[in-house]
Amino acid sequence: MSIMVPSKTPALISPGRQALDSALHQLDQAAEHLGLDNGLRTVLATPRRSLTVSVPVRREDGRLDVVQGFRVQHNVSRGPAKGGIRFHPGTDIHEITALAMWMTWKCALVGIPYGGAKGGVSVDPTVLTTRELERLTRRYVNEILPLIGPEKDIPAPDVGTDEQTMAWIMDTYSVSAGYSVPGVVTGKPMTLGGSLGRSGATSRGVQIATLAALGRSPEGMTVAVQGFGKVGALTAQYLADAGCKVVAVSDITGAVYASASSGGLDIAALRTWVSETGGVSGYRHADALPLDDLLELDVDVLIPAALEGAITGANAPRVRARLIVEGANGPTTPEADEILTANGATVVPDILANAGGVIVSYLECVQNMQAYSWSSGEVELKLRDLVESAFSEVKSMAAARGLTLRQAAHVIGVGRVAEAHQMRGLYP
Ligand code: NAD
Repeated sequence: MSIMVPSKTPALISPGRQALDSALHQLDQAAEHLGLDNGLRTVLATPRRSLTVSVPVRREDGRLDVVQGFRVQHNVSRGPAKGGIRFHPGTDIHEITALAMWMTWKCALVGIPYGGAKGGVSVDPTVLTTRELERLTRRYVNEILPLIGPEKDIPAPDVGTDEQTMAWIMDTYSVSAGYSVPGVVTGKPMTLGGSLGRSGATSRGVQIATLAALGRSPEGMTVAVQGFGKVGALTAQYLADAGCKVVAVSDITGAVYASASSGGLDIAALRTWVSETGGVSGYRHADALPLDDLLELDVDVLIPAALEGAITGANAPRVRARLIVEGANGPTTPEADEILTANGATVVPDILANAGGVIVSYLECVQNMQAYSWSSGEVELKLRDLVESAFSEVKSMAAARGLTLRQAAHVIGVGRVAEAHQMRGLYP
């Protein structure tokens, strides 16, 4: 038996299926490089557990809506499953499986003792009231309750969810257990056992990876960031703080641009604007830009920090940034990857660039287990150490074996998971 091969007809398949095809393609390349046998390849290509649930939600006007929810544990050979929960209307089981698979390689790459998981609900959280969101979250958690737990599978925030969502999950799980279980989720509010530095951890990791990849002073380097949510907004802020000129950012409402000669965007002011208005569109101290043009700007660094499949075979030939650092998971399709590489661009892959989030989630779990909390300085030091070590390991392997950074990162991550399988053996 061999693993599935990517479809040749992307126009006919869902974005989620395309993401899964990309993930399988990357796994296939790494498995080939590692010389893994077909049996092991199939194990690594297949989720360990995959649950689809229906989630009824009572709306404020009395209507009953039913949406689909998912939780996929891709692999648990190296430890409990770990991965975020996404609320997005386009989410499907294929997308969640791809995201769970990337979590497996990411945790292995940065050397934290977790497997990979992901969850999601196909719903648009922006059209729900807070009470509706709470009911939806609690019912979804109730449906996936048999899978999650601090020693089994630990959710965290992702697209469309935040620390309030994590607080509801923690409460729902704890009520069912009969006692408080803070370790069932990470990305919790500080008052419930969250970690200092968790909310900015993914972005801090993206900043550290960007500066490592630049390998020179960031002063004056121009940056465009796609997505101005939890990851994108703080990445823009941290890169601006490091001396970069962030000239363009976008979110689902639009894109805004301010040239480097005008000083670039004032990210702090833009974050205030977004918190007051709900999006970057209409921000007065910048020019409006067509959404997709952001990816093709003449900048030094491009940070896709929105969703999968942003850079494709269609727009990759027009991407002018020499360095692409993936804040999002799966923003570059394999076809685009080949084009970018052929054009001499460097791509710092998602499983390395955005690993800061799961690293500090791990640190949050460690603090919860000890019922202790570290200072933000201690957390940041450990985060920096893990991201920088992983970056130099990936860079060395890429140079030694003539691989791209993505291929090298996958060879390391997949190799560690394969080794864990081989050491554990097969039961029975
Ligand atoms: P979020 O919901 O906070 O933000 C997503 C942002 O993307 C929003 O600003 C949204 O408007 C924007 N967006 C959506 N479609 C867009 C489009 N077509 N063009 C431009 N902008 C668009 O989500 P997040 O937590 O910031 O996650 C973003 C990405 O980072 C996802 O791929 C996620 O899986 C990944 N990630 C998140 C974390 C984390 O800790 N939150 C960790 C690792 C990876």
